[in-house]
Parts: sequence; C-alpha cells; structure tokens
Amino acid sequence: MLRRTARLLLGLVMTMTFAWGGAVMTAGTAQADGCYTWTRTLAPGATGNDVVQLQIRVSGYPGYNSVLAIDGSYGPATTAAVKRFQAAYGLAADGIAGPATQAKIYALQDNDCTPAHFTYPELNTCNSTWAGGKVAAGTAKANALSSMWKLEALRHALGDQPLRVTSGFRSSPCNSAVGGASNSRHMYGDAVDLGSGPHALCTIAKQARNHGFNGILGPGYPDHNDHIHVNQGPSHYWSAPSCGI
Ligand code: ZN
Repeated sequence: MLRRTARLLLGLVMTMTFAWGGAVMTAGTAQADGCYTWTRTLAPGATGNDVVQLQIRVSGYPGYNSVLAIDGSYGPATTAAVKRFQAAYGLAADGIAGPATQAKIYALQDNDCTPAHFTYPELNTCNSTWAGGKVAAGTAKANALSSMWKLEALRHALGDQPLRVTSGFRSSPCNSAVGGASNSRHMYGDAVDLGSGPHALCTIAKQARNHGFNGILGPGYPDHNDHIHVNQGPSHYWSAPSCGI
C-alpha cells in the first residue's frame, strides 16, 4: 500500500516536472506570442514602429496626470513609463525593454493584441463594427485598444480585481439613443464607462489619474453618479466633485 502510494507520488512529481519544464521553454520563446513579436531590445534613443508597439502597451504608466505620447521615439517619458511598468510587475526597473519586459507583455496580451482582461466586444457596446462614429472604424478600434492597455494598468494597480465596463465605443446613432453628449468621446472609441464593484467609484476615479486618461468624470458631475467615465483625449478635463476631483 505504502509502496503503491510512493509510486503514484513519484509519477505525479515526474508529470509536474515535465509540465514545468514545458512552461519554461514556452516562456523563453519570443515567437510564442500571436499578436506582435519584438526582434530587438528597445532602449532609450530607439525609434520605429516597434517603439510605437511598446508605447501602446505601457501607455497606462505615464505617471500622475500625464499622457504618454505614442510617437515611436524612445525618450525620457517612455523610459519612465517602462520603469513604472517593470516595477508594477516586479521586474528590474531599468527602463530598458529587454527580453524579460517583452516576455511580461507577451504574457499580458491576447493574440488579437488586447490586454488579458479586456476584449474588443466588451469595448463596443452598441454594434459589432467600429463604423458610424466620429472617426474611421480603424481609428476607433485603435483608440479602444490603447484605452484597454490603460485599463489593464488601472486594473493591476487596483489589486488585479475586475473593472466592470458598462460602455465603450458608440456609433453616432447609438450615442444619441443612449443619451450621450453630442460631442461624446465614446464616438471616437477612446472613452470607457466603468461601474462600481468590486471597487467604489471614487477609488476607480482617483487611481485613474495615474494611468494616462485626459478625461475623468464621476460622482458629482452631472449624470455621472453611477459610473466613472474615462477618456484619452484630446483635452484635459477631470471632474468628480464627490470624490474630491
Ligand atoms: Zn462615458
């Protein structure tokens, strides 16, 4: 009886070892990601589309009341954002996007380039396409993608608890139907509404100030007592008087 148990345990240990070995090999293979694969370490001074791809993914780490420019140029602001991203995930915060940082980003993203905890359908509340808003469909969808990376940073900062998206991109007719403002950023794809639970609304609004949102509206602002509205641009406007914002 005891010997049989021992054999079973040995088999279990061997199985676990194989599984663990496989996971390590997968993590070390950059091409494992289906969305985007960097071919070089990115460091201050680098330029190019691969820097753009990095900036989109660390755009939620610009620092308090700041927005990271997605300009393909790895300057001081990008370096600082990478350092904050690294620190947030327990990596050495050297500001250089090398293999460890890239591997963390691969682990965080899905094959369609959305971050792990948000999806395109979730950010598109009214129809199945991205057309019919104030910008071209591709622009609206790209705006939603960068919003999602900012939301991922916000979600992580709030202890990896879910954020409840209640509205995202709206076509113009859809925006009218739900009573949105005539100039609503929801028609540009870069605005997201968040409901309460598990976080209090003010907790979300206050933390959002650190993650690259130019617009934050919440309790105390007209029609925003039951959700937090965040958007990316273009003008800076924060108002949630009941939260002290
Ligand atoms: Zn909104």
